[in-house]
Amino acid sequence: MNVFSSLVKRGHEQVVFFNYPEVGLKAVVAIHNTVLGPALGGCRMRVYEDENKAIDDALRLSEGMTYKSSIAGLDLGGGKSVIIADPKMSGEQRKQLFVQFAKCLNHIGGRYITAEDMGTSVSDVMVMRETTKFAAGFAQEQGGGGDPSPWTALGCLGGIQAATEKAFGSRDLKGRKIALQGVGHVGMYLLEHLRKAGAEVTVSDTVDALVQRAVTQFGAKTVSIDQIYDVDCDIYAPCAAGQTVNPDTLKRLKCKIIAGAANNQLLDPSVYETITKKGIIYTPDFVINAGGVISVGAEYNEGGWAKSWVEGKVNNIGNTVTKVLVESEKRSKFPEVVAIELARERVQAVREKQAR
Ligand code: NAD
Repeated sequence: MNVFSSLVKRGHEQVVFFNYPEVGLKAVVAIHNTVLGPALGGCRMRVYEDENKAIDDALRLSEGMTYKSSIAGLDLGGGKSVIIADPKMSGEQRKQLFVQFAKCLNHIGGRYITAEDMGTSVSDVMVMRETTKFAAGFAQEQGGGGDPSPWTALGCLGGIQAATEKAFGSRDLKGRKIALQGVGHVGMYLLEHLRKAGAEVTVSDTVDALVQRAVTQFGAKTVSIDQIYDVDCDIYAPCAAGQTVNPDTLKRLKCKIIAGAANNQLLDPSVYETITKKGIIYTPDFVINAGGVISVGAEYNEGGWAKSWVEGKVNNIGNTVTKVLVESEKRSKFPEVVAIELARERVQAVREKQAR
């Protein structure tokens, strides 16, 4: 990989590499854009096939965070970090690694704020908080926002209602058939909202206990993990892994709307055409799943995390989805393309204001 060309292509401001073998820390911090504010984005911990994949992950994900925060109306930029290590690392070894990473964040000096992501958890954030103030997503008892999943689910509900209005002329979900993939942290909260709104929800999950809970507690129907794509439904709500919208599944999906919490729902831009031809409304993932970053980012507001502020922003996600869908028609472009354009336009407007 030609690192500098990749930075130039994606428009990154800064990428920092840290190497502390004595604690097993090998990390990449990618700061894509800080025009709107400090770059916020989670820290992913995993073993990569090779270093290029780790760098690419940090670059790609940090760029996505710029767009997610921008279109959510947050005064935050986009960043992401990657620690190349086994996420199963535990005990004192794990603690020392995160203490060192926290010191690294202090070197960066607040241009990047980390949070939990795949392979990291609130307890890692709490370890880092003892050394740095540039780690977010901590427990409510400590003045943080706590688990962001309920907020992500609430934002998704608003996005689904906005898309439903566009597709069927009413936000009402009563009797709407929804295929919900994944009833984990976000999916289970979303299921609860959808059932309260009167939707008929069919769920799938790889964990039987979660499926059982969905049935007994919320009256969901269930199918096997593969059958979820064949469910006769109005809405497919992916809330598990990424890239489940691909040429194979698009042959099977019968929905009018794709709207869910999962990151990177589309295989790649090559699926835009099929989605459009099938007349499916797609709500861009980084628009509809911004509830989590809204809650985590609120910890950095003056006066700290406040429920009313978070609620206001999350409740606006539906309006943003509507705006994206309207602009998508006006500009004759796929919703994801338009959402990126709108996010970039806000960054550009602030950049120009700052230059004056
Ligand atoms: P989670 O791990 O708690 O839940 C995911 C669920 O999907 C799990 O229960 C898992 O068993 C299930 N699953 C995995 N593969 C599956 C498959 N093939 N079919 C059906 N189920 C499958 O994660 P989460 O925090 O609920 O996040 C869900 C998605 O939303 C992820 O893509 C995540 O990146 C994204 N997201 C989450 C948040 C948040 O606030 N938690 C914010 C933004 C985006």
